[in-house]
Amino acid sequence: MDPGVEVLIAEDEPVSQRLLMRTLESWGYKVILAHDGAEAWRLLQAPEAPGLAIIDWEMPGLDGTEVCRRLKAHVDKRHTYVIMLTSRDAASDIVTAMDAGADDFVEKPFRSEELRVRLRAGHRIVEMQAELRRKASHDDLTGIFNRRIVLEMLGRELHRAVRDHKPLAVALLDLDHFKRVNDTYGHQAGDLVLREAAVRISSSIRASDVAGRYGGEEFLIVMPRCDEETSLRVAERVRAVIGGTPVLAADQAIDATVSIGVAATAAAATTTPKALIGQADAALYRAKEAGRNRVELNRAD
Ligand code: GH3
Ligand code: MG
Ligand code: MG
Ligand code: MG
Repeated sequence: MDPGVEVLIAEDEPVSQRLLMRTLESWGYKVILAHDGAEAWRLLQAPEAPGLAIIDWEMPGLDGTEVCRRLKAHVDKRHTYVIMLTSRDAASDIVTAMDAGADDFVEKPFRSEELRVRLRAGHRIVEMQAELRRKASHDDLTGIFNRRIVLEMLGRELHRAVRDHKPLAVALLDLDHFKRVNDTYGHQAGDLVLREAAVRISSSIRASDVAGRYGGEEFLIVMPRCDEETSLRVAERVRAVIGGTPVLAADQAIDATVSIGVAATAAAATTTPKALIGQADAALYRAKEAGRNRVELNRAD
């Protein structure tokens, strides 16, 4: 187990609380304690809530099954792995707990070694799910967001920009003569250049911007609350950072450059992701025509 894995314990009974805390901490877990069901429910809704929870069935107010039911109904995307702790052991009780959404069931008083292996199994599942989520949203080669996710984010941000009467900009990037890079240095070196381009893009944008791999050697940057001047500055910085230093591949130094098309909506302007990207694409085409390694802007309204 990685040290410091967080586990939420929901237990109303002080002696049992202390025993659980001490036991889990001795195994290297970091314990977050909830003294009743309501507190557990509140803590588990936090964005950085633990993925693992040991929840006592019998608690005043919200009991363990009710916490499970709420988790199942409300926290859809991030799954909390719940081990239900209870002195009940009838088959029908186990079914009730599982039906409510518990993932596992440990009898109280718990046997230390049993709880330990069950926690370990739960942790493995939490990690596996996180990895699956990461794989579904990130590009394999570069590790940045994939096309589907960056488009989803553009859709969401555009919606928000219109609602809040704020501008929004996108930049469409296309590596220059990339076929030539592959032909000259090989496909593997080409892959390395793509990875390095993603790193340089990510390090050149602001924390509020998101970048994704849009296609083969194309990237998309979404810049919320960004007007033309600001987005041009960001794009220019990205262009300079990619073209400024060669990419080192084995014993080769590969010069790579990028052309960028930028499109921005004015505050409160309504447009669609497709239209905005189309505008950026038109600007990108102009950047290619004008000799590559440059940024062009296309106003979207
Ligand atoms: P331009 O400046 O006009 O964009 O020229 P270009 O050569 O970059 O454009 P073109 O669309 O003809 O070629 C894109 C190349 O990108 C061809 C393709 O093999 C390469 N490519 C796409 N995806 C990958 C990839 O994942 N790895 C590598 N190594 N190459 C890729
Ligand atoms: Mg209790
Ligand atoms: Mg291309
Ligand atoms: Mg290209």
